[in-house]
Amino acid sequence: MCYAHGMSVTSGSPAIETLAIHAGQPADPTHGAVMQPIVLASTFAQPEPAKPLRFDYSRSGNPTRAALEQCLAALEGGSAGFAFASGCAAATTLLHTLRPGDHVVSGDDVYGGTFRIFDKVMGPLGIAASFVDLRQPERLQAALTSRTRLVWLESPTNPLLRLVDLRAIADLCRGRGIALAVDNTFASPVLQRPLELGATVVVHSTTKYINGHSDVVGGALITSDTVLAERLKFLQNAIGAVPSPMDCYLVLRGIKTLPLRMRQHVAAATDLARRLEGAKGVRRVHYPGLASHAQHELSLRQMSGGGGIITVELDGGLEQAKRFLTSLRIFTLAESLGGVESLAEHPGLMTHASIPVNRRAELGITDGLVRLSVGLENVEDLWNDLQGALAAARGVS
Ligand SMILES: *Cc1c(COP(=O)(O)O)cnc(C)c1O
Repeated sequence: MCYAHGMSVTSGSPAIETLAIHAGQPADPTHGAVMQPIVLASTFAQPEPAKPLRFDYSRSGNPTRAALEQCLAALEGGSAGFAFASGCAAATTLLHTLRPGDHVVSGDDVYGGTFRIFDKVMGPLGIAASFVDLRQPERLQAALTSRTRLVWLESPTNPLLRLVDLRAIADLCRGRGIALAVDNTFASPVLQRPLELGATVVVHSTTKYINGHSDVVGGALITSDTVLAERLKFLQNAIGAVPSPMDCYLVLRGIKTLPLRMRQHVAAATDLARRLEGAKGVRRVHYPGLASHAQHELSLRQMSGGGGIITVELDGGLEQAKRFLTSLRIFTLAESLGGVESLAEHPGLMTHASIPVNRRAELGITDGLVRLSVGLENVEDLWNDLQGALAAARGVS
């Protein structure tokens, strides 16, 4: 089983459920341990000067991290994976492949922390970014300049779960020698594989679905471009925003159930989205798996499920939304998403509060908007919880 011995996965690759459990994780050759050892050592003995066995120093490379990186690469169908201390660390490292004077076109409703990196970190270093609604690929064409080196997007987007046609954007980029980075955090490789649709590199906050247990902050980059992979390997070591071996182990452990978890996240979210659509006190439900979603057809083409996030616009405004959120008993009021436990939040007041008010209105982030991360609890229990909170929001106790 070559995939279990850390070799690259080519034709006849096992399915994602098998890769999640075995890719990059051969049995330990010393003791036969069936779970990946957590190698905490910062440095490694060398038989001769400058002749390390495989690893020399843990910022440059570490056995537990290498196992995670190979597993992530296999899940996304890439040839190289790189793990980082957070999703933001992964993004920043990737953006350091650019040079002053280079230009980036980014989707206009990317994760707030990503926007902040473009705006406040890379901008002052001379790397300009334009923010464009990429739902219409023609808009990308209009935004390209002779200095555009990278297109960056998320699909589905946060919190309105809009989709971007990855293949259409990838085709536009490829013809011009522009790299395409896709933040695949919301879909996970189980539901969407951007490299297969033509993306150059996939970005993850492994904090979310990939780890899935709300106990690690981490990030990753995956690519099949060998020149980019060499550069990323250099930058990962040079910048040094690497994850600890303990965190790598936890993410590897979380990945083992990723395909199973995603199936249940999708089944429960689809069920709840349908019920919410007809519920009293609900104005609108945003969920790519619903036939009413403006890009439902695209979701069927490029995803194998609508995901685990539902965004709901409640009747009324801020007061109703606050009553809804504080009346939930199983959904926890908290930022983040993708864990086994259900979470709810108010984008306007919480995750997207740093976006200027008029920009928020343009994007459709209203006072009545709440975002649900549907966890793995019993679906009837979750539905009862939502119904109770909807009644409380309407002022019915
Ligand atoms: C959370 C998140 C990030 C940032 O990841 P961190 O691990 O918090 O640094 C980037 N993109 C998306 C879509 C996210 O949800």
